[in-house]
Amino acid sequence: MAADTMKTGPSLRSLAGRVAVVTGSTSGIGLGIARALAEAGVHVVLNGFGKPEEIDRIRSQIASEFGVRTGYAAADMMQPAAIERMIEGVMEEFGRLDIMVNNAGIQHVAPLEEFPVEKWDAIVAINLSSAFHTMRLALPAMRRHGFGRIINIASAHGLVASPFKSAYVAAKHGIIGLTKVAALEAAESGITCNAICPGYVYTPLVEAQIDGQAKAHGISRDQVIRDVLLAQQPNKRFATVEEIGALTVFLASEAAASITGVALPVDGGWTAH
Ligand code: NAD
Repeated sequence: MAADTMKTGPSLRSLAGRVAVVTGSTSGIGLGIARALAEAGVHVVLNGFGKPEEIDRIRSQIASEFGVRTGYAAADMMQPAAIERMIEGVMEEFGRLDIMVNNAGIQHVAPLEEFPVEKWDAIVAINLSSAFHTMRLALPAMRRHGFGRIINIASAHGLVASPFKSAYVAAKHGIIGLTKVAALEAAESGITCNAICPGYVYTPLVEAQIDGQAKAHGISRDQVIRDVLLAQQPNKRFATVEEIGALTVFLASEAAASITGVALPVDGGWTAH
């Protein structure tokens, strides 16, 4: 084929001008995803808790660094009515919603028979039910435009279990099931729905645990990372928020149009065990 007639294939630049909501994007993985989408030209609506001045700083930094519009919704992912107002607000302000990233999540660790009931309810509400609500509310707009990308941040714990994480493991397994149902229902509408399943990702939250664990166990930072935090992760390396962001951008792109209903591990081989 002559060079001038060669097709270049679907481009990541096809994302420019699209609108994304990323739940739980005031820190950690969600913020990394919001920044990666903005770098690809996507207007991003942030969500999550934080000091108003810090959220303003994040918004204006993303807007000036990548030349996109930013929004912010304070919606508590435990409150279906607040989620409804968030999606309505996005439609009013931006007129469309192309990419829905369900990332907000919390954790609590305790034996099953001692697991606080209110923690169970909160984890299921934030880590699973909030995605049901954003999806049911975002799908009609996506169907109208004949395009949509739903990306659910699950976990390696959506595929395998660990002790003492009953609510988290149940919610993460649940969101993978929900991902598959949405993929099937929306398959003919130009809409895909996939889950990303990170192992340990290096975030400020993880960094904050390293020194404490080192002190508690009387071992070095390197030993904490290798033998405590990454005990299950064969490559002995944290994934980064930039890596999760890059995968999200790919799944949101035209190039990923045929990838739907999958749960993609980003776990250094953890779930290959
Ligand atoms: P994080 O604590 O740094 O960020 C969580 C975000 O969710 C914050 O922006 C917080 O404000 C927001 N949030 C919490 N409760 C909320 C609520 N009720 N309503 C709205 N927003 C709320 O955590 P993270 O490590 O970046 O985790 C993000 C997602 O990735 C979670 O779903 C988590 O389960 C998943 N995950 C994380 C790791 C890891 O190693 N960090 C591994 C696998 C999966």
